[in-house]
Order: sequence, then structure tokens, then C-alpha cells
Amino acid sequence: MQGFNKYYPPDFDGEKHGSLNSYRGKHALGDRARKLDQGILITRFELPFNIWCGTCNNHIGMGVRYNAEKKKVGSYYSTPIFSFRCKCHLCDGWFEIQTDPKNTRYVVVSGARQKDEDWNPEENGGFAVHDTDSNAGPADPLAALEKSTDAKNHQTKVQIPRLESLLDASDQYNSDPYSLSLKVRKHFREDKKIRKEKEKSDTQVKDRYALPTTLTLVDEDAETIKDAKEQWQKGREEILLRESKRRKLAVETSITPSSSRSLRPTTSKTSSSSAAESLRARILGNTARQFRTSKTTSATGKSS
Ligand SMILES: [Zn+2]
Repeated sequence: MQGFNKYYPPDFDGEKHGSLNSYRGKHALGDRARKLDQGILITRFELPFNIWCGTCNNHIGMGVRYNAEKKKVGSYYSTPIFSFRCKCHLCDGWFEIQTDPKNTRYVVVSGARQKDEDWNPEENGGFAVHDTDSNAGPADPLAALEKSTDAKNHQTKVQIPRLESLLDASDQYNSDPYSLSLKVRKHFREDKKIRKEKEKSDTQVKDRYALPTTLTLVDEDAETIKDAKEQWQKGREEILLRESKRRKLAVETSITPSSSRSLRPTTSKTSSSSAAESLRARILGNTARQFRTSKTTSATGKSS
């Protein structure tokens, strides 16, 4: 039993015994030091990850604590490598976990399997935190020299000429602002004159046809003029066709016999009124025909 209290027995001799522990023949760490002669210290060890016991094949969760036998098994440079030997709490099997100072982690050495669920930054589009493989090799002075020479060449052959051309352009623009401004204003005035003229003619057209003032007219060029002409002729032909049809109908009604005329809805009127009506229709038809023909001749003369 470890000396917990500070009771000094009467036969205790400080010169001889030195301490209460040595007086009782006990270690300061008590029972945990019972295997100290084998280099083993019993410590409380908490599982740093999930494992499966190799003996009973049970899953043991991360954070389960064991009274582990801690032992130094080697060293990585000056850092000791410790081994923790634990006894499974579900069976009598033992498993051993060691520290891995090179990768700052723990590894299962024997008696169990680690559940691999480490976050792999490289797999997830990141960068490795621990560069364990030294593939980079030693720094090559010749390669470094070549790199710096390339950078210098790039500077003299690409960057400096580009900067110079930019400066030249800037100088050119800033050397004579008066004449440049003059040029710009002259161009603007010419443009404005044309714009004003167009605006004036557009306003005239709008006034003539009572178009809304907000309407924007298209610019006149050969294409639009041709298009407009075609549209006009098409519309005109349609009107002529309709007129000729109407005229034909009027002629037919004027020459129909009186028996058929009596069937028309105007039967309530007297015979004298119906005769006057037919005369009127004939005169109108003739006038319309004359008017049409005169207009067509004038139109054809105009278009040809
Ligand atoms: Zn087990």
C-alpha cells in the first residue's frame, strides 16, 4: 500500500530511509510501477480511433480507456516511440498501439484493426498537411539559376517593352490635348448637323401623317426604300382587286330583271322608286368606273 499520509513511525530514520516510500519499500507510483523492472509503466490510455478487436472481432469505439502497459520501443530522431499494450475488455485478447512521431499519430501494431476514417485533404481537393514523402529532393542550384534567368529574360523581352509602349501611347494622348479636343468637337458638330436635319425631316413626316411624336422613324436607305415601295404596290393591287369586284357586282345588280329585283328587301317601296334606284346605281357604277380607270392610268404612268 502506498503511503498516503504523512505518518512517520518511531523507527523511521531519515538518514537511513530517505523517504516514507523507501521506508515501506514502495514506489511513488504504487501499483502502476509493478512492471517497472521490464521497462513497463501502467498508464491510462484512451483509444484515439475506432478499432475492431483482432481476437473477438468486436467494434471498440474511440475514447474507451484501458490500463495500458506503456513501454518505450524506439525513437524517431530524439523523440521516443511508445507502445501501449491493452487488454480487450470484451475478451482476453491483447492489442498494441504505438505512437508515430513522424506523422504525429497513432498506429495499431498488432491484435486489432483500425477503422480507416481519417480525413484525407488530398482526396477532398485540399493539400496534404503532412508531407511524409520526400520526393521534392534537394534544391538544385542550377535549376534555381535557370529559373531566375528565365524571369529576367521575361522582364527584359516582354514586360519592359509592353510598359514602354503603354507609356508611349499615354504620352501621345496627353501631349496635345487642345488639338485632340478640337478634332473631337469638330466631328461632334458634323454629326450633330446630320442628326438635326434628320430630326427635322422626321418631324415633318410625323406632322403630315399625324403620327405620335414619340415614334422613331427608321433611317432611309436603298433597302428600306425598296421594301416600302414593294409594300405600297402590294397594297395598291389589293385595293384595285377589291374595287373591280365591287364594280362587277354593281353592274350585275343594274342589269338584273325586274322580277328578281322584286325579291329584294326593298319590295315595300313603289315601282317608281325602284326604277329611280336602278338608274342611280347605274350612274354611280359608271362614275366609279371612269374614276377608277383615270386613276389607274395615272398610277401606271407614275410607276413606269
Ligand atoms: Zn476482444
